[in-house]
Amino acid sequence: MEYCKVIIVGGGVAGLGAAKTLGPNVNYLLIEAQDYLGGRILTIDAAENVAVDVGAQFIHGKEKNILYEICEQLSCISDDSNNIENGVLVILSDGTKLDPEIMQKARLVWEDIVEEAQAKFGDTTIPAHYSLADYLQKHLKERLLSSLSCSDNIIDGLIDYFNSSELIENGCLSLSDLSLIGKVYNFQSYIYACLYYSEYGSFEYLDGEDEYEFKNGGYRPFISYMKSFIPDDNRIRLNSEVIRVKYLEDSHQLLVHIRHHNKTNEEKISTILCDHMIWTSSLGYLKENFSSIFSNEIELIEQKQTAINNLGFDTINKIAMVYEKSFWPEENHLIILLHTQKQKLLALVESLKALLNTKETDIQTIIEAIHMYEALSSTEVPVLICWFGGPAALLLENLSEKVIGQICHEVLCSYLNISSELNQPKHVLKSEWYKNRFVRGSYSYCSTKSRTKDREQLRTGYAPDGIPRIQFAGEATHAKFYATVHGALESGIREGTELLSIINK
Ligand SMILES: Cc1cc2nc3c(=O)[nH]c(=O)nc-3n(C[C@H](O)[C@H](O)[C@H](O)COP(=O)(O)OP(=O)(O)OC[C@H]3O[C@@H](n4cnc5c(N)ncnc54)[C@H](O)[C@@H]3O)c2cc1C
Repeated sequence: MEYCKVIIVGGGVAGLGAAKTLGPNVNYLLIEAQDYLGGRILTIDAAENVAVDVGAQFIHGKEKNILYEICEQLSCISDDSNNIENGVLVILSDGTKLDPEIMQKARLVWEDIVEEAQAKFGDTTIPAHYSLADYLQKHLKERLLSSLSCSDNIIDGLIDYFNSSELIENGCLSLSDLSLIGKVYNFQSYIYACLYYSEYGSFEYLDGEDEYEFKNGGYRPFISYMKSFIPDDNRIRLNSEVIRVKYLEDSHQLLVHIRHHNKTNEEKISTILCDHMIWTSSLGYLKENFSSIFSNEIELIEQKQTAINNLGFDTINKIAMVYEKSFWPEENHLIILLHTQKQKLLALVESLKALLNTKETDIQTIIEAIHMYEALSSTEVPVLICWFGGPAALLLENLSEKVIGQICHEVLCSYLNISSELNQPKHVLKSEWYKNRFVRGSYSYCSTKSRTKDREQLRTGYAPDGIPRIQFAGEATHAKFYATVHGALESGIREGTELLSIINK
């Protein structure tokens, strides 16, 4: 039977970070279920000269950010990143522009409320499962009404927009599931800066800009750089899913069953023996497969199952539309839509149903969720990215790229009050992070069920003979930087370093 010292499960950032740390002298194999390295980092060529990151897109923070340091050395970070505050256009249902001063004031109200929410952290009088939605519902509307002299419709549109953006930032299905005692975002000059964290959720925001963008090519140079530390391709097995792991008491080894699949979907099962394993799959994958893969390891299941159940993991998705020429005001890199007229929205739904020749009832949920179009600054080719969170992010996975692209395009043209015929998108790209059965969503968050110890329990190694045999990495295991690429990278380095110290003892 094939043997290697270490198996790294997963070729995302955490797995690549572990491989780099172990170095060429450790006999490891990196087993990846999909046909590429990068996992939730996936850069796709949407058209000639247009690379789009359909997963992670930004680097969050600069100081003490190991990811930033690497990418700066690789010269792949865009110089434009600091200009993100400029050029935001907010449009109402009737096509009029919202006065930037009103948006500014609304943002300040939002910031105040977030600050108050922060002050509630650690308040023992707060019910244990108090969510961000509970807090916002109680305070946001009343405060916006008293601070802004604008109509109810605009206030509702603003609330809708803030809520929707919050869903995307946190990757949760509903704000009712987002623990108030977790991470909370703030809309600073229309960008999202994570200002607050609690001892409980313990998300930590690094100094510097919240969103550094990449040059054209996106995250690709970073993934190539990480791969360059793997001495040869024989160390990597793509299209190979670890489906069962059993600890053998006699030999103190792990018996690992792997399902290989090729393009014709033929399957083959193989087994490998190893002394150690670093497991890096997403929390979404663990939620679905943990108990079956480790069914022989009762203690391991007892150690982690509650944490896996408690921590949150839902889906966000994005749509990229590539155009021949831009038809939106060039100075605007971000276009925000406020759905201020229900009637207009319903009319739009009906006209789109007719245009697409469908009775699809979900279209309304999808249109209601459209709030933000971001112009990709990394390429000369005009590209708009539309972000989706909440239930709409799941629903759009059932639509074709053509249909969802058309919906996003028509909605924007209707708000801009221009003909949709003249400027059809040339290409549309859609992410499907929930349908991807090796990921099952986007990133982890602190749900109202989460407990202080969950992330720690998730990363604790399994040591059936007193020596850690199975270690756990991946973004969800990071105490402070969960949900991020730098968190995933640090987690892989953490476990690689620990394993080296065990091996070298
Ligand atoms: C749409 C979206 C936008 C995002 N935006 C940002 C952003 O702007 N900035 C940021 O910092 N972060 C962002 N993130 C989060 C970031 O992408 C992740 O935190 C990070 O990439 C996770 O890396 P990982 O190695 O922990 O997990 P993954 O990337 O999920 O890697 C795990 C790998 O394990 C493989 N695998 C799973 N099960 C098995 C098995 N049984 N056998 C073999 N292989 C297996 C999977 O195929 C996968 O490749 C975003 C994520 C999404 C989805």
